[in-house]
Amino acid sequence: MDPSKFTRWIQKVMATQEEEISCSVCFDLVSDYVETELAGGEIKGALRRVEHHLHQCQACQDEYELLRDLVRSEEDPQSSPGTDLPGQNP
Ligand SMILES: [Zn+2]
Repeated sequence: MDPSKFTRWIQKVMATQEEEISCSVCFDLVSDYVETELAGGEIKGALRRVEHHLHQCQACQDEYELLRDLVRSEEDPQSSPGTDLPGQNP
């Protein structure tokens, strides 16, 4: 095999491979990831890397689950009683 061809192939593979992110980058983005997921948004761009990292990093996955539960409980309408719901006329 022509070694220069092999080098070009390697460069091509490296270029198409998704960038790995570190735990600190994941930590910065995980709140965006949770918000997007709970809002039913599309996971794309940098958030895809977060998703990928979560699958292989238990520490960040724990952080993600913690944050997700926190955001969910904040958005739970039952946790804020006394608010008038419109459109409930008899
Ligand atoms: Zn991590």
